[in-house]
Amino acid sequence: MHCPFCATQETKVIDSRLVAEGHQVRRRRQCLDCLERFTTFETAELVMPRVIKTDGSREPYHENKLRAGLMRALEKRPVSTEQIETLISQLESALRATGEREVESKLIGNILMEKIKQVDQVAYVRFASVYRSFQDIKEFGEAIAGLDDKTAKHN
Ligand SMILES: [Zn+2]
Repeated sequence: MHCPFCATQETKVIDSRLVAEGHQVRRRRQCLDCLERFTTFETAELVMPRVIKTDGSREPYHENKLRAGLMRALEKRPVSTEQIETLISQLESALRATGEREVESKLIGNILMEKIKQVDQVAYVRFASVYRSFQDIKEFGEAIAGLDDKTAKHN
């Protein structure tokens, strides 16, 4: 891979490790020319089901869009980027496991909310409030009530 600093074609891998529960390879590389170091992440590109939106329209699954949403929900929370990547790969495994060619966006939201709840309860409420846009106050109350001591321990 070319060096992003000086565009030299020769770079070497100086460290390689599995991250996101083995769904991703993180590589440290060094340019043989300018000696700058940088990191690359490698993931398998597998076909994801398309997403059925609430209005019935379909769109491709966008990992980056999802990541941006997660980053927003988890902003200033004690959740590492590594944990976010793990959430995403767990979600993707769950979606592939459905064996469906199309899944409802609601399913994606529900899977994510369950995962986030286990990681950080503040982020969970934040994500849930955006994702569900809480149709009524009762639903919001249920989300809060769903937070148990087990999740608090992780903070
Ligand atoms: Zn270079």
